[in-house]
Amino acid sequence: MKSWAEGEWFSKRDPVLEMLTVTVFKVPGETNTDDLSPAPDAWSRPDVPVHALAMLKNPREGITDAIGQIEEAKKKGFPVAYVGDVVGTGSSRKSATNSILWHMGDDIPYCPNKRGKGVCIGNKIAPIFFNTMEDSGALPIECDVDNLNMYDVIDIYPYQGKITKHGEPDSVLSDFQLKTPVIYDEVQAGGRIPLIIGRGLTAKARASLGMPPSTLFRIPSSDADAVEGYTLAQKIVGRACGLPEGQGVLPGQYCEPHMTTVGSQDTTGPMTRDELKDLACLGFSADLVMQSFCHTAAYPKPVDVVTHHTLPDFIRNRGGVSLRPGDGIIHSWLNRMLIPDTVGTGGDSHTRFPIGISFPAGSGLVAFAAATGNMPLDMPESVLVRFKGDLQPGITLRDLVHAIPYYAIREGLLTVAKSNKKNIFSGRILEIEGLGHLKCEQAFELSDASAERSAAGCAIKMNPEPIAEYLRSNVVMLQWMIAEGYGDARTIQRRVEAMEAWLAKPELLEADPGAVYAATIDIDLKDVNEPIVCCPNDPDDAKLLSDVAGDKVDEVFIGSCMTNIGHFRAAGKLLNQFPGQLPTKLWVAPPTKMDATQLTAEGYYSIFGKVGARTEMPGCSLCMGNQARVGDSTTVVSTSTRNFPNRLGKGANVYLASAELAAVSAILGKLPTPSEYLEYASELSKDRDDTYRYLNFNELPEYTEKIAA
Ligand code: SF4
Repeated sequence: MKSWAEGEWFSKRDPVLEMLTVTVFKVPGETNTDDLSPAPDAWSRPDVPVHALAMLKNPREGITDAIGQIEEAKKKGFPVAYVGDVVGTGSSRKSATNSILWHMGDDIPYCPNKRGKGVCIGNKIAPIFFNTMEDSGALPIECDVDNLNMYDVIDIYPYQGKITKHGEPDSVLSDFQLKTPVIYDEVQAGGRIPLIIGRGLTAKARASLGMPPSTLFRIPSSDADAVEGYTLAQKIVGRACGLPEGQGVLPGQYCEPHMTTVGSQDTTGPMTRDELKDLACLGFSADLVMQSFCHTAAYPKPVDVVTHHTLPDFIRNRGGVSLRPGDGIIHSWLNRMLIPDTVGTGGDSHTRFPIGISFPAGSGLVAFAAATGNMPLDMPESVLVRFKGDLQPGITLRDLVHAIPYYAIREGLLTVAKSNKKNIFSGRILEIEGLGHLKCEQAFELSDASAERSAAGCAIKMNPEPIAEYLRSNVVMLQWMIAEGYGDARTIQRRVEAMEAWLAKPELLEADPGAVYAATIDIDLKDVNEPIVCCPNDPDDAKLLSDVAGDKVDEVFIGSCMTNIGHFRAAGKLLNQFPGQLPTKLWVAPPTKMDATQLTAEGYYSIFGKVGARTEMPGCSLCMGNQARVGDSTTVVSTSTRNFPNRLGKGANVYLASAELAAVSAILGKLPTPSEYLEYASELSKDRDDTYRYLNFNELPEYTEKIAA
């Protein structure tokens, strides 16, 4: 007790040195987590040394043989630091961090096959990746990397905030300021999670011995200037921290919001399981933890099959809810379990709640949030995107999703080039107003894509009516799950009761008029009058359809968490006009088994079959890149979330577009002109209410009758 009270667990560890000498391993441009932890190798993620062999296996500028080049850097006799222009964008997979640290970190005593510490330097480090680095005890530094080149030996002065040539303290190559001085303690403690747990135990030990609070640790800043109002996200987080009603947590403040809902998917699930074991977690403190099997169900490897058989019990035995292989995509289910104005997280970077807010994280932090019911958070600033006016004919919500980067580029708040990249959204919360009438399924398209903006989270101002409609439907879905034998039934029932409590008093938090945003982007819908696509291979590269019309299309994918049942009806109605077989390869994968069942009942699967489409098991399908793949070097139009190089297929050029535009492209074998597209789209406008009808389980007899029985 005395040792814990005096924090010996911390003070006996080495502090961060005044100066660190490292050799640069430079990866120019943007490294996303798929470069570091490729999806086709997802099966080996829990085996860190094996998985690390796949790091940067696809050659790219400056990288011809990553492992060999790292070995070459080590020959200089110093630790190696990972350096890049933009580092860690994309998914939240901790395996990306694990791979870097396996090659460049330090052994952890008595813990085989894992390494910690290490240095990562980026002009921009994506927020989730930054946090995962902190969790692992690494030193993440954001600074200008233009003067740092492959195999340079440099001296880093962490406290002075400068990087110099080795042995030349006056030849400064770059300046920096650490995000927070608490990072020094995180490195010393072996990571952010050990620090938080250890700090808490020291505080408890001191309190029980009647000692005053410890002064050993750097305390996260909690001051912020007084403000005239709070944003919606700030208020939601404020409520989750137990602040008086209507008060928010301001940018820069450290907090530990309560986690009401936590999601885990199957390629990171085994790592989360291992982290939960490390935390000795025998029961979840988060109110609802849900596990999905959407990433591996369709084409599982033997190791995935073992996960399918073992992970459900691991989750249920701790009070969590486990889906089944074939059920569908994590978000399409988890969204239907949400309580308005609450906070959560998930081990998938697209855990972006359409109601409330989520801060997705790597598997270590997700395990921490599930086990303890809280998550450490340095509250980010917010960027407001304000829509006004009415949607123009033929324009879809997906076009509005792409309008956000399109307008940001126009206003100089986002650049596509990676060197000295500007991204106003990076690490901030995207808050969206002006589309409150959207159904929750539609709102998710907007929040889901906040991952592509590298935003830390997303909060959408919604009207109470669509949320009430969604929750009435979701209550029935949850009750149907219990009737179908899903568990843990007590957790599902608790969630039903929380939804019913909200429905009894349907009130929502709102931003204050005086709320402050880092930037505001106004989008008048009357100016968005042709589709907007994101061009190969960068989700930021938003262009008008007229700029890319005519490009030949080989394959089309309609699926991913960006889609809902309305998209498949719309695509089906367009395809039904086409006689014979398509000139393109069309892949169709609805997000959940309930969507597939309903589409089958309505005859859409027969349309897909008639035109020669390949229908896939509900789930992530092509989007994840570890299942079926498009042909090498093909040109693809996809409704999936992101189009990073090699994600959908080796050397594939991928346009991101709406399901409606994707269907027209499948029919024509090319990207249509806006007028060609609008001709097809005008057909859809004739029965919009039938097309864009969502799964309201409370109105579907197969669900209500099952509950009644
Ligand atoms: S559909 Fe794609 S983005 Fe969505 S959860 Fe699956 S892999 Fe992730």
